[in-house]
Amino acid sequence: MTGGIDEVAAAGLRNIAGMSPKVLAPGQVAVLVVEDDETIGRHLEIGLAGHGYAVSWVRTGGSALQMARTTAPSVALLDLGLPDVDGVEVARILRAEYPELLLIILTARSNEIDIIVGLDAGADDYLVKPFTLTVLLARLRAHLRRRSTSTSPATGPIVLGDLVLDVAARRCLLGGVEIALRPKEFELLVVLASRAGFAVSREQLMDQVWDENWFGSTKTLDVTMAALRKRLTQAADHPSSSQTPTITTLRRHGYRLEHPTGRGT
Ligand code: CA
Repeated sequence: MTGGIDEVAAAGLRNIAGMSPKVLAPGQVAVLVVEDDETIGRHLEIGLAGHGYAVSWVRTGGSALQMARTTAPSVALLDLGLPDVDGVEVARILRAEYPELLLIILTARSNEIDIIVGLDAGADDYLVKPFTLTVLLARLRAHLRRRSTSTSPATGPIVLGDLVLDVAARRCLLGGVEIALRPKEFELLVVLASRAGFAVSREQLMDQVWDENWFGSTKTLDVTMAALRKRLTQAADHPSSSQTPTITTLRRHGYRLEHPTGRGT
């Protein structure tokens, strides 16, 4: 690391003074956005936060290095044309310090050399400006999904009272009895269960369970939710289950899976 970068990082520390790290909800992904363009930065901050990501937005390379040290993000979206230091240099440092970081370069320089340089600097992917939020979200999901299946095959089951969700085996058990769920019902339950006690918006559910190819109608969510509830209710009648999580509807927002409470066994 050069002295120049250290100075830049020190200046960055002054820039982010007073910004507190976001507190993550279970399953929430921390994203560091490094973008000096106010319009794009604001768009990314609002758009990503609206899809459940915990966003920290900084405008300089120096701030980016400091913020990365403070928040340990899982994802960094890095503009190459920054006011204080070349984004490629920031990418190299982030990659060296955080080997697990998902690093996506945002660039207006569409010529191939810059793209190759960006990837040489350790980036996992790049997006050429202008890009849409939909495209960015799709790429993020694809990368994060790949990572979660490739790096953590031994992820333990989600246990909520009598409900056990074995994500790796795609099995759902209630009181030790297996419930046969359709694929979308299972995925819906996994998303809700991984954020038990927290509200999950309809948009987040559509996004995570039905992927990016949905527009307008979310009737399919209602139908799948009704089917899932029915199966859980039927299974909860089994004598061996006493602590069954329930799904609360949040009007004009979405759903929340409640932590199970006993029914007085
Ligand atoms: Ca820029």
